[in-house]
Amino acid sequence: MKECIACGMPLIKPEDCAGGDLNAVSCIHCTNSDGKLKSCNEIFEGGVHFFIEATGSSKGDAEKLVRKNMCFLDHWKENPCECLGGEQATDEEYQAALEKL
Ligand SMILES: [Zn+2]
Repeated sequence: MKECIACGMPLIKPEDCAGGDLNAVSCIHCTNSDGKLKSCNEIFEGGVHFFIEATGSSKGDAEKLVRKNMCFLDHWKENPCECLGGEQATDEEYQAALEKL
């Protein structure tokens, strides 16, 4: 299964893909209207909002969940950003959050 390089979201439907293109490497949420990937900070903040709304996490917990998710992706291993340098959720915390989605 293909996933967004920046957030790991499955790219199954054209409307989820950047530019509506199934060949895109990133999802619509991580991509600007010019087709370029958003900055790590923007994607990180978007993820934090997503987890707060979807799971009812506190901001601090949501930040740890997003770091856990993004640090797992090769794209951010190759392009590290300081916003990903803080504390990460444990495997148990991450799984518990995913079950609420
Ligand atoms: Zn994405």
